[in-house]
Amino acid sequence: MNFSDLFSRVMHFLVHNGFLFTVSVMGMVHAVLLLIMFSAGVTPLVQFNVFSVIVYIFCFLLCRFGHILPVYVSIVMEVTAYTIISTYYLGLRCGTYCFLFSIVPIIIYFGSFLFKGIARWHVALMLALNFLVFAILYITFIEKEPVYQLDSTTRLGLVLFSSFVMVFSTVFYNTIYIYASEKEVGSLEEKNMKLAMDAQEDSLTRLLNRRGFMPILEDLMADEKTSKFCIAFCDIDNFKRINDSYGHEAGDEVLRHITWIVKRQMDNCDICRWGGEEIVILMREMELATAREHMEELREYVEASPTFFFNKRIYTTMTIGIAENKESYEKPEDIIKVADSRMYYGKQHGKNVVIYEDRKTV
Ligand code: GH3
Ligand code: MG
Ligand code: MG
Repeated sequence: MNFSDLFSRVMHFLVHNGFLFTVSVMGMVHAVLLLIMFSAGVTPLVQFNVFSVIVYIFCFLLCRFGHILPVYVSIVMEVTAYTIISTYYLGLRCGTYCFLFSIVPIIIYFGSFLFKGIARWHVALMLALNFLVFAILYITFIEKEPVYQLDSTTRLGLVLFSSFVMVFSTVFYNTIYIYASEKEVGSLEEKNMKLAMDAQEDSLTRLLNRRGFMPILEDLMADEKTSKFCIAFCDIDNFKRINDSYGHEAGDEVLRHITWIVKRQMDNCDICRWGGEEIVILMREMELATAREHMEELREYVEASPTFFFNKRIYTTMTIGIAENKESYEKPEDIIKVADSRMYYGKQHGKNVVIYEDRKTV
């Protein structure tokens, strides 16, 4: 198992056992605090830490039985109470108010799972109260002498420990949130692709995919061998360069934009996203000469109409090969192959052209 597999497994475990992991860590944090307070002789906080450890053992059991909401409320209340009491006994200089900030990501992360839609005002309220508690604590204790004066080493240790807990919590919950969302997006994209395949439609451009397009062409050729139609094979020029220069998202936007142009110009035709940046157009009841005119117009339109991507204009061109149906074509692949090879000829002779005959350019 390599590092990335291990990372994925650990992240998967944490995403699915977030509450259990949280209460276990909280219990351990209080166990460490218990030791610190014991060695510093702060008896009230030793007692409170014993209470906190017991709370988290209960929370652990509640998690195992799926009672998540009481665990969420207990975490928020326990940490708030601990912060107030520890600030009262030790003063602000020990930095234990960092614990209050350490639960901000917890309030947001778990709150967004527990409360949906408008009910998320609970989360907003808890965040507001969290800040209010900090403000009141700060105003109340800024000038007050603490009940216990810790030595400077213990105080430094406490400040470092509580700020580490705060930073760890921020990084940890953001990491699992990002991981969970990326997983979700990935699986949605997969489902989308599958649905689009089933629906015979391309998910990015909403054009027919090959599965949807080929039966149309098959039917047309089967009905009447000599039926009049033309096929245009269009390929965006230097599309890879667009991806490389502006990013994949920009490339997708260019594809949507070109699709919009093709649909607009050729609204009575069957249009297929043949592959990555290739579009095949079926022009029914059309002579080669008319198809040429349409494709030349389309080529010029694409050339003149940039894609707007954020504040950039991305210019692109398209090479098009056209083939007219002939009696000798037996199946759809035959005519598409001819259009494709003419398009290919255009690619090798400067691009941004319409090729309508073998080895001739417009
Ligand atoms: P040519 O002028 O010869 O056609 O060059 P080209 O760069 O357009 O062609 P090439 O076949 O070298 O590259 C096509 C690129 O299209 C490579 C692939 O990453 C990109 N591509 C395919 N599908 C998509 C897509 O759905 N979105 C984006 N953004 N890029 C895609
Ligand atoms: Mg191509
Ligand atoms: Mg291309």
